[in-house]
Amino acid sequence: MNMKELATLNALEGKSPFELRLNQSLGVPESAVKKALDTGDIGFLHSFTTGSTVDGPGVRVVAWTAGCQWRCRYCHNPDTWSMMNGMPVSLDSAAEELRKYRHGLRVMSGGFTVSGGEPLMQDRFVMKLFTAAQAMGIHTAIETNGFLGERLSDEELEKIDLVLLGIKTWGQEKHRHLTGKDIDPTLEFARRLAARKRPIWVRFVLVPGLTDDPQDLAQMAQFIASLGNVERVEVLPFHQLGRFKWKSLGLDYTLDDVRPPTQDLIESTLTSFRAEGLNAV
Ligand code: SF4
Repeated sequence: MNMKELATLNALEGKSPFELRLNQSLGVPESAVKKALDTGDIGFLHSFTTGSTVDGPGVRVVAWTAGCQWRCRYCHNPDTWSMMNGMPVSLDSAAEELRKYRHGLRVMSGGFTVSGGEPLMQDRFVMKLFTAAQAMGIHTAIETNGFLGERLSDEELEKIDLVLLGIKTWGQEKHRHLTGKDIDPTLEFARRLAARKRPIWVRFVLVPGLTDDPQDLAQMAQFIASLGNVERVEVLPFHQLGRFKWKSLGLDYTLDDVRPPTQDLIESTLTSFRAEGLNAV
C-alpha cells in the first residue's frame, strides 16, 4: 500500500459517527487489505471522535472501525459494515494522535474506546493500538458484539480495561432474526470475561416490538447477573437517526414504522434488570 494513501486520525475527525462515509478505501488492493489485517500495522477507520461522554467512563477519544459481519436491523451505522468504507490509517499515526490526548484523558478520568462496526474484525490492529495506549497510561475500552472474542488471547484480554458488550436480544431464533448471526459466541465471550474477572458494561438497545419481550428480558437479566463481572447495564432507547443511511445505501430497512420506546417501557426494562441486582441505567 502506498503510504500516501494513509490518513491521519486527524483527517478522519468527525462531529459524530452518524456522518455517512463511503468508499474511503476504494482502490486499495485486496492483498494490501489482507496484509494489513494480518499484521495490524494498518487499520481501516470509519471516523474518529473526541470528547465523547457516552462510550465508556469519563471523557473519551473514540476510533470507529470499519467492517462488521452482523446485520442488525436497527444498526445506525450500516456504512461501517464494509471495511472498504473505512480509511486506511497506520498504527504509528494513530498512536501518535492518541499521545496528544493522554494528559487530558487522565485529568477527565476518561480514555480511549474502539467501537465500530465490529472492532474485532481488525483484532491485530486494535490490540496493537491498545498496547500503545496502555503504555501511555490511557484507559482502554472496546465496544464489541463479542462474536469474534476467541481471536483474543487471555493475555490480550488483560490489555482491555473495559468491554462494552452488546447483547442484542435473547434466544437463538430471535437473535438470528435481529442480527443474522448466532448468539452463542457472544455469551461464550461474556462467560470467558467473567472467568477472568474482566469488567463488562452490557449495552442493550431497546426496540419496541423487537427486543422488549418481558420473558426475554428476565432471562437476559438472569444471565447477566450470573456473570458477576458486569458493572452496569446500559439500556439504549431505539432511535431513527440511522434510517437515512439505510436509504442512502439502498438497503431494506424494516423498522420504518417503529417508534422510540416510551418512558414507561424504558422504566419497566430497567426494572427487569434491577430485579436481578444489576446496575441498570
Ligand atoms: S453489531 Fe453493531 S455495527 Fe454490526 S450490524 Fe450490529 S449494530 Fe451494526
